[in-house]
Amino acid sequence: MDFNLTEEHLMIRDAARDFAQTELLPGVIERDNAQTFPDELVRKMGELGFMGIMVDPKYGGSGMDAISYVLIMEELSKIDASASVMVSVNNSLVCYGLEAFGTEDQKQKYLTKLATGENIGAFCLSEPEAGSDATSQKTTAIDMGDHYVINGTKNWITNGGRSDVYLVIAQTDRGKGHRGINAFIVEKGMPGFDIGPKEDKLGIRGSDTHTLQFNDVKVPKENRIGEDGFGFKFAMKTLSGGRIGIAAQALGIAAGAYELALKYSKERKAFGTEICNHQAIAFKLADMYTDIEAARLLVMKAAWDKDQGNNYDMSSAMAKLYASKVAMEHTVEAVQIHGGNGFVKEYHVERLMRDAKITQIYEGTSEIQKIVISRGVIKE
Ligand SMILES: Cc1cc2nc3c(=O)[nH]c(=O)nc-3n(C[C@H](O)[C@H](O)[C@H](O)COP(=O)(O)OP(=O)(O)OC[C@H]3O[C@@H](n4cnc5c(N)ncnc54)[C@H](O)[C@@H]3O)c2cc1C
Repeated sequence: MDFNLTEEHLMIRDAARDFAQTELLPGVIERDNAQTFPDELVRKMGELGFMGIMVDPKYGGSGMDAISYVLIMEELSKIDASASVMVSVNNSLVCYGLEAFGTEDQKQKYLTKLATGENIGAFCLSEPEAGSDATSQKTTAIDMGDHYVINGTKNWITNGGRSDVYLVIAQTDRGKGHRGINAFIVEKGMPGFDIGPKEDKLGIRGSDTHTLQFNDVKVPKENRIGEDGFGFKFAMKTLSGGRIGIAAQALGIAAGAYELALKYSKERKAFGTEICNHQAIAFKLADMYTDIEAARLLVMKAAWDKDQGNNYDMSSAMAKLYASKVAMEHTVEAVQIHGGNGFVKEYHVERLMRDAKITQIYEGTSEIQKIVISRGVIKE
């Protein structure tokens, strides 16, 4: 067992760290306030290969492994979790879904542009009445011979406004339950496909989250992903990898808050000494450091499982469950260590605290991760 990162991994991590410091940090507070994320920054992430990290270079990707992916996700998330969720959705849910399960034509037509960041993708599973219970899909896709007609509503869709390509899960045959669900590639601008207003959110405010409406949207048959009825399996398989990305995002948020809190505690004086010299603060730092390291090991293990071709359903669920808990708990502590300064935007930790919460909710809530893990444990 070797816990060292390779030279290549260190270079990738440093490149992501450098990008986060030089490009993401300036303006991160303003972007959070305004709920925006400029296309220019997306373009730059694409140029660095961050939008198709694990995609084969023959489809325009960077051909890196999952370890590289989590290293990049951690570094971006330390500074700007709105940037990293765009990266995560595009990589894990959209690019991976197309590369693993799409046809060669679908890969040539869609993946090549998504992997370079020329196009952006969204993954559309959730509905007003189908969140954790994803099998309760109300969106329908009726088979009309050479095409499907999609009707329904998707909500909470990350990259919902800015995407070019949407992977949409819909029910084609209600009688077959989850075996009657399919996944489709829908393009922005297809008649009947409308993008609703942007959500006004607690955290990851730079990332755009929208409700989407599908009113008699005609989608060619060749845009279905996989065999008829593969849609639910498709969603579960892509989400399993997505959870590695969100776990790494949570890890980055926690680590970013910890680094700020450590620095602050060495500068801020109270009762004649730097506050890190007060045991109550020092012990908080010790807990943060330990828990973040434990989260990092779980995240790395899940990524390693993926790279080895092992099943990673359990390891990704454990990594997400634990890293998101650590992110939530320790961003609150980072605010506490900053005292009153922690409560204002200038010091960044309040934003990290707000951003942390979503990691316990999307791509399966913590309760759903426990269902996945407990089922796995009981089956063993
Ligand atoms: C900012 C943001 C971005 C998102 N991005 C996307 C996206 O890009 N694509 C997409 O498809 N979705 C996206 N989502 C949706 C997200 O995945 C869902 O919100 C999440 O899965 C929870 O579903 P829900 O909101 O319907 O909550 P519900 O399923 O209604 O859950 C409510 C509560 O009940 C609990 N609960 C539900 N069932 C059980 C059970 N069986 N046992 C124990 N507890 C249970 C949940 O854990 C939760 O605490 C996003 C959400 C947000 C907020």
